[in-house]
Amino acid sequence: MQQDQLPLNPGHTLGMMGGGQLGRMFAIEAAYMGYHVTVLEPGAGSPAAEVSLKHIAQPYLSESGLDELAKTTSAVSTEFENVPAQALDRLAKSVFVAPPGSAVAVAQDRNAEKEFIETVAKVPVAPHVPVLTANDIDKIPDELFPAILKTARLGYDGKGQVQVKSREDLHQAFVELKEVDCILEKRLDLHREVSVIVARGVNGETATFPVCENLHRRGILAVTVMPARVPEETALKAREYATAIVDALNYVGVLCVEFFVLQNGEIVANEMAPRPHNSGHATIDACWSNQFEQQLRCMTGQPLADTTQHSPAVMLNLLGDLWFDEHDNPKEPNWQKVLAVPGAKLHLYGKAQARHARKMGHITCVGETLDEALQRAQLVARILGLPEPK
Ligand code: ADP
Ligand code: MG
Repeated sequence: MQQDQLPLNPGHTLGMMGGGQLGRMFAIEAAYMGYHVTVLEPGAGSPAAEVSLKHIAQPYLSESGLDELAKTTSAVSTEFENVPAQALDRLAKSVFVAPPGSAVAVAQDRNAEKEFIETVAKVPVAPHVPVLTANDIDKIPDELFPAILKTARLGYDGKGQVQVKSREDLHQAFVELKEVDCILEKRLDLHREVSVIVARGVNGETATFPVCENLHRRGILAVTVMPARVPEETALKAREYATAIVDALNYVGVLCVEFFVLQNGEIVANEMAPRPHNSGHATIDACWSNQFEQQLRCMTGQPLADTTQHSPAVMLNLLGDLWFDEHDNPKEPNWQKVLAVPGAKLHLYGKAQARHARKMGHITCVGETLDEALQRAQLVARILGLPEPK
């Protein structure tokens, strides 16, 4: 099946690289619309395989696994960012793949990503320089400090990052990060962090969801407020920038762009994820369509969905820490109390084992007004023993 055979109608089987929660929510959405899903995921008992028609239990680079996925599905997408580019390229020889491997490759390397966003998409980013060898460090202008050194690849949830105040710090941090390819970014004075979920169809049609406002704790997304509490012009600019990025990438699929809103009101793009994103989970309960339905529509060549938000929403991430008491003994969160909160929608990912910092699920609180949604989220947070969102 190739792009000229689109659109794919309900009844077709769609392939997903990866078996995590993003694949699970995609498969649930696909089932609503009468499509089937096959997941390629090496691990047993994954969140996505539990709700999919078929599970190919092979490594992401296994040729037989990839060939089986290509042969038995009509289009393939990915639910994780670090899917090997070779895997997508192999699939693309015989089945329609969205997003394209070339776009995924850009998102996998922070240097390529920043360069692309700034020079091709013409969207502002933080001042930065690649740090590939210790020699690069002496050439860095003083104005770049204080800064953050980040590994170019495989960083997530704040991992692979070191704050550096000076050139001496930087030398030490580079050694600490094992001298792998890095990027040094000037540390900006952040007013807020926001993100935009954008979809682009095979015909170049684009749609953005309302802007999400994100709060991180210990480097992990903790709370998303949707719509973001930023001026209308800031929100419009963020949506425009996200659209410019998918257009420049000639992208097909759903992509998330994280932005920093600076103290002076300017916005800069931080990074992108070539897939649905944790900060977009509120779209499920708050919008006329959601990011997973949009992913499906993109890969099947169907028209994009209406992204209008019908209810203000506050999403709380549920990390594995909630399954342990203060002595680190296992416990079950009080679901009965949570489910008694009006407008609170519980999403659990079916992970067999809770671990600290592991994403186990989320709760989206909707309301008639953002204040109401926020009060409900505060109540849920109190019940679960989480810090109250503000
Ligand atoms: P990750 O892939 O781990 O999400 P990010 O680049 O998004 O990596 O960085 C994680 C967090 O670190 C951001 O959400 C933000 O809070 C902070 N951060 C990252 N880069 C900068 C920067 N240049 N200036 C200020 N804060 C930053
Ligand atoms: Mg990030």
